Amino acid sequence: MVPIVLQNPYRSGNDLWLKGNLHAHTTRSDGTSEPEAVIAAYEGQGYDFLAITDHDLLVSPDAYQGQTSIVLIPGVEVSARGPHILHIGAKAVIEPDADRQRVIDAINASGGLAILNHPNFERHFNHFPQELMESLEGAVGVEVYNGLVERYSGAALASDRWDRLLSKEKWLWGFGTDDLHRPEDIAVAWIVVQAETRTADAILDGIRRGRFYASTGVTINEVIVNERTVTIHTEDAQRIRFITGWGGVIRSTVKDRTASWTVPDVPDLLERLKYVRIECYGEGGLAAWTQPIRMVLSEG
Ligand SMILES: [Zn+2]
Ligand SMILES: [Zn+2]
Repeated sequence: MVPIVLQNPYRSGNDLWLKGNLHAHTTRSDGTSEPEAVIAAYEGQGYDFLAITDHDLLVSPDAYQGQTSIVLIPGVEVSARGPHILHIGAKAVIEPDADRQRVIDAINASGGLAILNHPNFERHFNHFPQELMESLEGAVGVEVYNGLVERYSGAALASDRWDRLLSKEKWLWGFGTDDLHRPEDIAVAWIVVQAETRTADAILDGIRRGRFYASTGVTINEVIVNERTVTIHTEDAQRIRFITGWGGVIRSTVKDRTASWTVPDVPDLLERLKYVRIECYGEGGLAAWTQPIRMVLSEG
């Protein structure tokens, strides 16, 4: 057997699971609602955190945090002169340089998180060219589901792009967001983050470590790794799939809300599998996506 270790980003224990949206627009750019109304709408939906991310413009949470119980995280959508990149944990607007590597470098230098947006957006399904995504270094993740694209050209789902990246060892975490522009865009897709406390710092730390999943409606309770076996417990999945590298191969499908999968001892295991991630499907096509669990050679 090839000696491997599965790197599970999730923790067992007493963490909170906090629900949030990191992509929303207001009247400060091309959204239709004032920031106060957007914040109130997410609070009304029971969200724990929200980032308002207007185009190349920072709406500081300072003016609004005192009036809401939802945790506001500062953000910007870097938009002009190239494919869009979310800047989460923003302290200031990053210059939208046509060289997107410079944008990501500037975001990282300021302590923020960079997320590549809606890869399959637009009529050519190619808002974010694959080769460009593969060449960029330092982004924390990619939008695997962007709710706004449901009512625009292209595909809201980008798990195809994600598997291509992961198979080339571009370790990006997968995000679900609303990209809200109008009131009806709310609660299409979100993330749920494991965090010790309900604070912006703890949420951002959980995101950076991949302790979260993306969802359009399915709830995950736990992801456990025991040696070579991965087990997932969900609240309401009806079908669970285990997907690995070598281009997004479905290794197992289980019709249940709990499932396990054990890494087989195949030739060239690390080359062929590289990672396992889990897709959970529920009622009416709702879904949840775990982060990839990497496989690495164990020492000794
Ligand atoms: Zn965008
Ligand atoms: Zn947007």
